[in-house]
Amino acid sequence: MAGNITAGDRFGRLTVLQKTDLRKRGKIVWACKCDCGKYINAVSTDLTAGDTQSCGCLKKEMEEKHLREKYDEKRVNGVALQLFKDKEPRKDSSTGYRGVSKYYTRKSKELRYRAWITVDGKRHYKSGFNTAEDAYYKGRLMLEDLHLPKK
Ligand SMILES: [Zn+2]
Repeated sequence: MAGNITAGDRFGRLTVLQKTDLRKRGKIVWACKCDCGKYINAVSTDLTAGDTQSCGCLKKEMEEKHLREKYDEKRVNGVALQLFKDKEPRKDSSTGYRGVSKYYTRKSKELRYRAWITVDGKRHYKSGFNTAEDAYYKGRLMLEDLHLPKK
């Protein structure tokens, strides 16, 4: 089977240089040169199967690309998503609005709504709204504007 490979063959980024005296798993080990300039030894069957296609630089590049894409994805979705995590009630919480909770005034025990937001572990409030809707649109959204990092 080793006869399938000859010097000069290309597998991914690798160019086969010459047969070595080494054997791995009973297979011939070939000396190869990667496009990036590194020299490596590769087992014949790994080359023909496509398991070895570079000195390792290809895999590294793919991983970096993947990381970069994931990072960009997060940025596109807004910093907010990352910051909020699971700290806040979902939209189906008691008030129906994200980041809005009910409370009662101390003296007259009247129902009021308070908007809040947690950014980087810090909580910010804006209280005194008569409706949850007001608290959301006039409170929460304003807090988001004030405290969320600008994109
Ligand atoms: Zn390489």
